[in-house]
Amino acid sequence: MKLDLTALLNKRMPKADFDFTVDPSSVEGAAGFPEDIALTGDIRVCGSITDNNGYMALEATVSADYKTVCDRCLKGLTGHIEFPFGRIVRVSASEDGGEDEDELLYVSEGGIDFDRDVIEELSLELPIYHLCSEDCPGLCPVCGKRLDGSCVCEKTKETDPRMETFRKLLDKMKE
Ligand SMILES: [Zn+2]
Ligand SMILES: [Zn+2]
Repeated sequence: MKLDLTALLNKRMPKADFDFTVDPSSVEGAAGFPEDIALTGDIRVCGSITDNNGYMALEATVSADYKTVCDRCLKGLTGHIEFPFGRIVRVSASEDGGEDEDELLYVSEGGIDFDRDVIEELSLELPIYHLCSEDCPGLCPVCGKRLDGSCVCEKTKETDPRMETFRKLLDKMKE
């Protein structure tokens, strides 16, 4: 979305607030966006730009909801992410304050459009590893069921006395 900054640039206002959303469908196919994550609503961008004698700073909070799957048990899960987003806004590229290019946004035709920057930063902020819970037991390598009691493989192994005898026998053979 293009944010109109004419009032700020004409010094009629020292501060411009904004609150808008970015359509997640514009994220599809965005370079570097994690493939295992699907956004479930609009990306919200809320903040303000303040003008301090020509030095314009943008400060915002970006938030989004998403769904993905647990890396251990493949159960579907939802998540919420919120992170601070900051940039320095420049009217022209000729000003040089020695800042990192990635930290800058340039005004074009009286406004700025930084949807792409928001999407890029979101893709970096999203967690790489997802767990349905801290102590997710994962899946049984034998039967593929979630190791939360629905799998009986481990139990049978432990309680079957014949298996125990067999194991002792194997140990003896190794000696
Ligand atoms: Zn899990
Ligand atoms: Zn099992």
